[in-house]
Amino acid sequence: MYKKPGYPKLIVDLQKLRTNIEKVQNACRDQGVEIAGVIKGCTGLIPCAMQYEQAGCAYIGSSRLEQLEPLKEAGIQAPLMMVRVPMLSEAAEVVRICDYSLNSEVNVLRALNAQARIQDKQHRVILMADCGDLREGFWDKDEMVEVAVMVENDLHNLDLAGVGVNVGCYGSIMATPEKLQELVDIAERIEERIGRELEIISGGATSSLMRVIDGDLPSRINMLRVGEGILLAYDLPHLYGYDIPGMYQDAFKLRAEVIEVKTKPSHPVGEIGFDAFGHRIQYEDRGMRRRALLGIGKCDYGDPDELICCEEGAQVLGASSDHTILDIEDAPRDLKVGDIVEFDLKYATIVYLTNSDNIEKVYI
Ligand SMILES: *Cc1c(COP(=O)(O)O)cnc(C)c1O
Repeated sequence: MYKKPGYPKLIVDLQKLRTNIEKVQNACRDQGVEIAGVIKGCTGLIPCAMQYEQAGCAYIGSSRLEQLEPLKEAGIQAPLMMVRVPMLSEAAEVVRICDYSLNSEVNVLRALNAQARIQDKQHRVILMADCGDLREGFWDKDEMVEVAVMVENDLHNLDLAGVGVNVGCYGSIMATPEKLQELVDIAERIEERIGRELEIISGGATSSLMRVIDGDLPSRINMLRVGEGILLAYDLPHLYGYDIPGMYQDAFKLRAEVIEVKTKPSHPVGEIGFDAFGHRIQYEDRGMRRRALLGIGKCDYGDPDELICCEEGAQVLGASSDHTILDIEDAPRDLKVGDIVEFDLKYATIVYLTNSDNIEKVYI
């Protein structure tokens, strides 16, 4: 049988991940906010998920059931949360696997209720409000209040756990205090109608951590669903200038092997058409340059522009499905075939790499 050579390799530093989880969790708990650790960004790798459990996360969430299902077997006891609004066709599995789901469609809620009755369970639901980001959620807030009342009164195998919002995903809307207060207002309208307090008011994802850092999160928001901000801690400091001190940006690192080193022209030679993915590319002519090929490609990590090359003086020039090309003309190290080059990663590359069977995952 084919035996993997060991490269390309993803190095996952579980201690750094754990530190990131605890820093975010402590910052949130100081303001009365629990977090759902969202593990879809690392494809739900079990050793990573275990860190959230051991750090005492109140919930563990993913957008994919196949990532949540193995967690129970791995001994994880934290309640599991489906964070992508479910497909009608997966209602039975959502109820079987998850304790909580986020929802925005009446028919799906009815199906979840029916399945929960068949499985003799109570399933907890969080109704999503769309406050302008234009992905999931009720746009008509009157309808949302009526559906909440219906869940409370008529769907006996569902428990209305609370309400939530998502911002900063499709519509790039910022999690301002005013935006999040809109969600609290909806929650309070629902509470008035059902005559009790909601358990959860879930005020968004990583982008809402800005409000935790600034200390101006509306006080009734008591839960955030945090993925990227823990796995990578890159967007908040780099895009918005918000930093939680002591967070690591290199809990995930990539190592790939050099498969060719040659000096070649920097501009392709011949008539220019399209690249392997059907795109027209502009090539800069910098004369003859030394370059290294790596045995890894777009199939493994997506976009080569999202790789941060740690090799001094080296630059990622481009890639095809299974090759990555580096310019190493100015690199001080005399790179040879068989040498290993290291990369820091961004969110999308971590998503792809953790998904790729071609990548050896090593935990330290
Ligand atoms: C992915 C996702 C999250 C986590 O988002 P991050 O930006 O990675 O923190 C939270 N909520 C929902 C509904 C999601 O789909």
